[in-house]
Amino acid sequence: MNATIQIQDISAAAGTKAQGFLSVAGTAVKIPIVIVNGAQDGPTLLVTAGIHGGEYPSIEAAIRFGRELDAAQVKGAVIVMSPVSLNAFHARQAFLVPEDGKNLNRVFPGKATGTIAERMAYTIISTVVPYIDAWVDMHGGDIPEALIPFGGYIISEDEALNARNHELSEAFGLKYLLHPANLPGTTIATATALGKPGILVEAGQLGILDEDNTQVLLQGCRNVAQCMGILAGQVQMTDLTEYMNWPWVRASHTGCWYPQVKIGDTVTEGQVVGIVKDYFGETLAEYPAPASGLVLLVCAAMSVNANDPLIGIAY
Ligand SMILES: [Zn+2]
Repeated sequence: MNATIQIQDISAAAGTKAQGFLSVAGTAVKIPIVIVNGAQDGPTLLVTAGIHGGEYPSIEAAIRFGRELDAAQVKGAVIVMSPVSLNAFHARQAFLVPEDGKNLNRVFPGKATGTIAERMAYTIISTVVPYIDAWVDMHGGDIPEALIPFGGYIISEDEALNARNHELSEAFGLKYLLHPANLPGTTIATATALGKPGILVEAGQLGILDEDNTQVLLQGCRNVAQCMGILAGQVQMTDLTEYMNWPWVRASHTGCWYPQVKIGDTVTEGQVVGIVKDYFGETLAEYPAPASGLVLLVCAAMSVNANDPLIGIAY
């Protein structure tokens, strides 16, 4: 039989489900958490969403996954945290934690005595991650971001870990798979550094809570739990198309943004993918595609600031 899982003051005995809020030491921040502790032994899966506050289908899919799980049907445990950044969620703030202006997915593993985002990351790493055998971190296009669904993990020197991440990605079921070379401070880079499987999944966009993307992400969570043997059932593995590079085209000027391509388009190197103009309609800069590849992300806001990401191309 499983041991009791106790995280701060939230305690789930074997065969039970508990929910509440994690406290972040030295702040008023609370992070919602559901612990589903199965009656039978098995691995522990962590699902997080809402590390970025405006990625609604991922936040909703995680909430539904935590709610639908029945401890009697679970072998091992599932821990769900969503939305992780309640502060960003309620501020309707894309990408950043409002109190310190930091991207929470760039400050892991965090610091016990750092800024609010750093303390949030530290709380998750120090209190939750020691229990887990795999981490699925769900995202999507944030409020001003158009995006086609994709997954990703960091390739490390640990072949067994790479194979496990690949298997979990095939199980989750998003066709496009990216391998960011180096994304310091992210959940997946931190999981990899700790020797634990950690995959990123992205679906949904533009601040829209849409049912199709919510269902894709919810089913992906069920699939990963089945692949790990936590839930009963056979997973249909997905054939993945992999990309090794994922450069951003960034704005060189502040002004008005006019993308010339859409998500899902295939572009050739050098092709103009967007234009920034001033407030009188004069062109300030044209942006060529840095490589031939697939357009995964497009900034959908007309307003851009210098250095903002405009377009992400996978190749
Ligand atoms: Zn995100």
